[in-house]
Amino acid sequence: MTAKQKVIIMRCDDYDPAKIEGIIKEGMQELGVKPSGRVLLKPNTVIAHPDIFPHAFTRKEVLDGVLGATRALAGEMTELAVGERSGITIPTRYCFKQAGYPKIIRKHRARTHYFDETRQVPVSLQQDQSLRNNIFVPKPVADADFLINLPKFKAHPWCRLTLSLKNFIGIQDDRHRLVDHNLFLEHKIADLQEVIQPKFIAVDAITAGQKMMLTPTPFHMGAIVMGTNSCAVDTVGCHMVNIQPADVIHLRLTAERGFGPMDLEEIEVTGDFPLDEMQARTRDFKFCMENIDTYFRNSGNLRCTVGTFPEKHSPDYCWGGCPGALQEAMHILKAYYPNIYQDIQKVRYVVGNVTQPLELDDDEKVIFAGDCTSYSGPLGDQAVSIASSYRTTGKVDEKKTKSNDMVLKTIKTLLAAYFRKNRRYVHAKGCPVSVGDHVHYLSVMGKIKNVNFDPRLVFSVNLSYWTMRLKRFVNHCLT
Ligand code: SF4
Repeated sequence: MTAKQKVIIMRCDDYDPAKIEGIIKEGMQELGVKPSGRVLLKPNTVIAHPDIFPHAFTRKEVLDGVLGATRALAGEMTELAVGERSGITIPTRYCFKQAGYPKIIRKHRARTHYFDETRQVPVSLQQDQSLRNNIFVPKPVADADFLINLPKFKAHPWCRLTLSLKNFIGIQDDRHRLVDHNLFLEHKIADLQEVIQPKFIAVDAITAGQKMMLTPTPFHMGAIVMGTNSCAVDTVGCHMVNIQPADVIHLRLTAERGFGPMDLEEIEVTGDFPLDEMQARTRDFKFCMENIDTYFRNSGNLRCTVGTFPEKHSPDYCWGGCPGALQEAMHILKAYYPNIYQDIQKVRYVVGNVTQPLELDDDEKVIFAGDCTSYSGPLGDQAVSIASSYRTTGKVDEKKTKSNDMVLKTIKTLLAAYFRKNRRYVHAKGCPVSVGDHVHYLSVMGKIKNVNFDPRLVFSVNLSYWTMRLKRFVNHCLT
């Protein structure tokens, strides 16, 4: 009989680095973890800002505690590094700075790998169920001997939860991250486990996030969760918030591929925070797995029409792509401009194959979102025909992807939107249309401010962007 995977839930009520380091040391010892070789820590820094996005990322105190424990307990270590690629094309070095990481990384004499600045290499995937034969990851990930995964415990509007498995979406750079980030997102997350499996996981569940992933509502969970297997940690994470592991599709797919258990019977749960006490604490923990047409129903000027989708496994909704990106974009806009729902002009957001005539108000503009969207019929007093250009995953070559560079994308999208700003509609292309592009299209068609030009963001993000471009050029010349 194989030994059960062990997952430890420890009480931790506040972000005290010394206390966290003690908890991590205990956890590593109980789990028999001894980091060695090239050790890479992967936090979740999808976005970070102390005021605007305070609960979206793994806190610096957790990084501090784990780095300290790793230094103390490691065997022969040839490198200690922290690496990540933040989301929505914002330079990772900007998010690290906002998260307060650089000082902590210096304190522990670790290296930083901004994955948007490093070389990307193909790793071959061998499993029959894999979406493709190769997947591109940053070289430091492919070279790592010992990966330590540091997710933030958050609900997720596309995947229900983001824990250890989902945190790996942040290892891909902009050129490769959006490949299969659509109806196949959950499959892609399972593919990423094949690249590398973490040898230690510590989840920042001190202040967890509810509902959204970029702008979560804080929830005091008061815990650190540790383990050595992503499926086991995520399974326990599901039970911590009273949901069934099988309802987290990427967990089910990954477990079915043999990467770990999804049944609590196969996991030994230890620590000083009993699971049933946690379940009682999180009885009101909130998720947001809601279709956008109902989600925005009472939002005044933004209305959504959702059609059908081209893949058999999910014909009614695209959970990994455009609809979720719209939700995140609206939440980002709201974080900067709280009155956004009152200020936005009438916009109808249309996604999927829509066969019913769109009944619009006279002053309502339309965003047809995504490559899979199609519609033939009236649009006010004109007739339009929008055709689908969707390509299934096998038709998309991961070696010939666009750069998705922040500035190039901004210019291209804004030009596309501005040329149509006096027209009735725009067709936003992409599969998916990214969160950043959603912000641009909503800003132009809804006649609202664009956060990309907000003084709180524009200077520091652009400084980070140009530094990132320079460092990436140098890194590519040197490696
Ligand atoms: S275009 Fe958007 S909604 Fe359609 S399949 Fe792609 S990601 Fe999903």
